Amino acid sequence: MKFPFDSDIYSLHTPCYLVSEKALKHNMEILLSVRKRTGCKILLAQKAFSMYSAYPLMRPYLDGTTASGLYEAKLGHDEFGGETHVFAPAYKHEDMAELVKICDDIIFNSFSQWRLHRDTVRKSGRRISCGIRCNPLYSEIETDIYNPCFTGSRLGVTPENFESGELDGIEGLHFHTMCEQGADVFARTVPHIEKHFGGYLGQMKWLNFGGGHHITKAGYDVDLLCRTVDYIQQKYAVQVYLEPGEACALNAGWLVTQVLDTGRNGTDFAIVDTSAACHMPDVLEMPYRPELIGAGEKGEKPHTYRLGGPTCLAGDIIGDYSFDAPLKAGDRLVFCDMAIYSMCKNNTFNGMPLPDIYLEKPDGSTELVKHFGYEDFKQRV
Ligand SMILES: *Cc1c(COP(=O)(O)O)cnc(C)c1O
Repeated sequence: MKFPFDSDIYSLHTPCYLVSEKALKHNMEILLSVRKRTGCKILLAQKAFSMYSAYPLMRPYLDGTTASGLYEAKLGHDEFGGETHVFAPAYKHEDMAELVKICDDIIFNSFSQWRLHRDTVRKSGRRISCGIRCNPLYSEIETDIYNPCFTGSRLGVTPENFESGELDGIEGLHFHTMCEQGADVFARTVPHIEKHFGGYLGQMKWLNFGGGHHITKAGYDVDLLCRTVDYIQQKYAVQVYLEPGEACALNAGWLVTQVLDTGRNGTDFAIVDTSAACHMPDVLEMPYRPELIGAGEKGEKPHTYRLGGPTCLAGDIIGDYSFDAPLKAGDRLVFCDMAIYSMCKNNTFNGMPLPDIYLEKPDGSTELVKHFGYEDFKQRV
């Protein structure tokens, strides 16, 4: 079988995430080209990928990181460097006291949050740029759980709640309305932002257009992204920020598992040593069926199996896949695109071991970054 990496999967301890420096670098080059062409700034959204052993490799290509709260902000500040931004739907006082020591940009989800914390920011003695997240009432995301603009959303200030009298000290506006989408969606979103918040855009130093830009995906229209960024920066004389998570580590990692058993109940199934619920929660949450190297759709190849995890959860099903030959215990299987929203989102439900983490170097050698054991489960409960 042909793999998009050099590591020998039978030499790896399963389950494990295998991340490729080469693949990360490929993504970084694309993001760097956007920065160079437009002068926009690009941050790593750590919620998608916070494997900090890879940060030194990524650092030369990006301006810094953004965080969803104190812990990610600390990680970005300590391990990545550059600019440290943070956005959270609401901050605790004790967290804000720490954030003002390390963040360069703090984005608030409401004017009440801004009023609550602005004195802490002012008294920090550091130069911190503050922004407000806005909801432009437009998103093309169809899955509500990932749509920050669905009816009743708590994320971002709606136009009717925008308090133009409270902008003293506010230097930027933040918009995040996309998920795995193309530059065409971004271009269609901008007029909605202008319609609802156009009067304030020119008063700002920066505008942050969030994540969800699938910039490193094959076929993504980088030219249209650059034209759209150019248009905004020229028209409003602002610094544009993008903060992709997924695009930074898209297709840069795999989840390697082994078959533990096979059986039949109407359909053939196989139990593997990785769990959808524990190790790839987006498979159940989104939901989606991850690509499996060498496997086809259900019925496409002679031997179809339903792959499921070793937990007691009946719905811990990864998906239906077909193979050239029957599966047997000990066979290794490789799921694709598992660097993002995986190791930063996994859990030890059922006492499941966390997958080890390997990094593949450009010379093809494999480094074990982290091995997890019983203590990692025990210390959490
Ligand atoms: C999730 C999120 C991101 C990153 O989104 P991706 O889809 O991974 O690119 C960036 N900014 C904010 C505010 C987010 O919530």
